[in-house]
Parts: sequence; structure tokens; C-alpha cells
Amino acid sequence: MLIIGSHVSYKNDTQLVGSVKEALSYGANAFMFYTGAPQNTQRGEINDLITVEALKLMKENNIALENVICHAPYIVNLANNSDMDKYNFAIEFLRKEIERCMTLGVRGIVLHPGSATKLDREYAIDNIVYALNKILMPEDNIVILLETMAGKGTELGINIDELAYIIDHVELKDKVGVCLDTCHLNDSGIDINNIDSYLDEFDSRIGLNKIGCIHVNDSKNPLGSKKDRHENLGYGTIGFDAIINVIYNERLANIPKILETPYIDRIYAPYKHEITMIKNKTFNPNLINDILNDNK
Ligand code: FE
Ligand code: FE
Ligand code: ZN
Repeated sequence: MLIIGSHVSYKNDTQLVGSVKEALSYGANAFMFYTGAPQNTQRGEINDLITVEALKLMKENNIALENVICHAPYIVNLANNSDMDKYNFAIEFLRKEIERCMTLGVRGIVLHPGSATKLDREYAIDNIVYALNKILMPEDNIVILLETMAGKGTELGINIDELAYIIDHVELKDKVGVCLDTCHLNDSGIDINNIDSYLDEFDSRIGLNKIGCIHVNDSKNPLGSKKDRHENLGYGTIGFDAIINVIYNERLANIPKILETPYIDRIYAPYKHEITMIKNKTFNPNLINDILNDNK
């Protein structure tokens, strides 16, 4: 079954109910959200009554809980311990994020592994491992999904070697997995047209069973550019057919596919129309106009 959705908002007043309604408005059966602003770590209280209502709404509309993904704020950097206060704060924040997710019933948290900044890469990766081993508890009913990164700046987790190293050194292995991002893979040098050879290597080194989420984005930049700028499906350098082949790849069936493509004119979500393209397996050359017309 096609499991498709997008990034949706999560507001303090409507919480998960708002997120579910937004996902349904796009024709999605999966979604991803931040528990607050992605660029900060201020988080509100979770209202259990709203959560109960959200779970009911999901059940009525066939959105399974395992297809709901949380994204940790991208400012959390587990790789940098040059300021111990900041490093410990990041560890504590992620611990609390796990608890928030478990309160909501969410089982997958996407995490950018981190950036080395001025530190040596190997040392910085060991900081990530150390932090994850501090954060994860045996009783957690959660998987941290390390996202494949584009290689912008000093990002870590930019190839199979680095992801495999982290996973190999995390003690509670059932609580760590991977989130593939097609834009990031392209920008890191993986040709999405040859996704099966990437999956072969991934399977032998890490195991396809570790993939818990796939971000489906086109890219504004060429293969290997190390940029990380997402583009609407079919409007970038990866192209519609290559992305469709990822979405419908049999080896990736039953893994939620999440769109993080840019808004049109920065205000109109493209997801309803992109999900229609995906369901029809047909590129819509009038996507932008159709979205603008929808919002007239
Ligand atoms: Fe991400
Ligand atoms: Fe992503
Ligand atoms: Zn990105």
C-alpha cells in the first residue's frame, strides 16, 4: 500500500488534531510534524484530551500511528561538545522529545545526526554515539531515525559509512534507524536513478529493515552539490520518474513517504497536488498554476 504524506504544522492550541486535519486535507495517510518551531526548543504542554481526539480522527480515516513521524528540531546538535552546557542541553532536549512522542503515541523521530563544526569528524561522530547511548532507554517504545544528510557545511551522516558507524555503536540497536531523504542523497552524490544499487549497499551494511521513513523531495541542485535545497517533485534535478521509482520501489513498500517540498510563493502548501501526482504516477506540468488557482 502507498503510504504518503507530508510535513504538516503542529500548533500549541490544536496540537495533533490540527496536524491530522491538515494531513487529511492533502489526501494523505501519513504525516510528519515538529512538536514546536523547528528552529527553537520551546515546547508547550501536551493536552491528552486533544491527543485522544486526534487518535480517534486518525482511526476513522485510516492513518496508522506507525505512519506518523516526528522531526526533532534541526538546531539540536549531538556532535558538538565544545560547549558542554549546550551539549548537555541537546541531550536533555532529545530525551524530553522522546517522552513527548511517547505521550502522543508517536514511534518515529527523525533526527539530523549533527554537524562537526570545528571538531574532527571522527571525534564528532563519537559524540553522537555517546549522546544517543545516554538518551535511549531500554523501555522506550521509539526509534530515532538518523536522516541521510546532503553534506552541507560540516554535516555528519552523509554516507552509509557514517550512518553504519553510528548504528553499530549504539547499544540499543532496536531504537535506532534511518530516514532516507532523496534530495539529500542526490546532493551527497547518490544518483536516485540508480536507487537499487544504493539500496543493495545499504542492505548489506545496515539492513533495509532499518529504514523507517523516506523524505521524498526533488533537488534544486545537481548530483553531489552538497547544498540541501528542496524542490517540488519533477521541477528539480532528480526528476519525477526517478522519485516515483523510489516511492513505488517494492523494497521500500510499507515505509512512510513524506514530502518536504517548498511552498509555492512561500505561502501555499503544494502537498495536495503533489500527492495527486504521486497517486496518478503522472507529472503535472501545471502544478504551480493549479495550486495558485486553488488559493484564489
Ligand atoms: Fe530533516
Ligand atoms: Fe528531510
Ligand atoms: Zn533538507
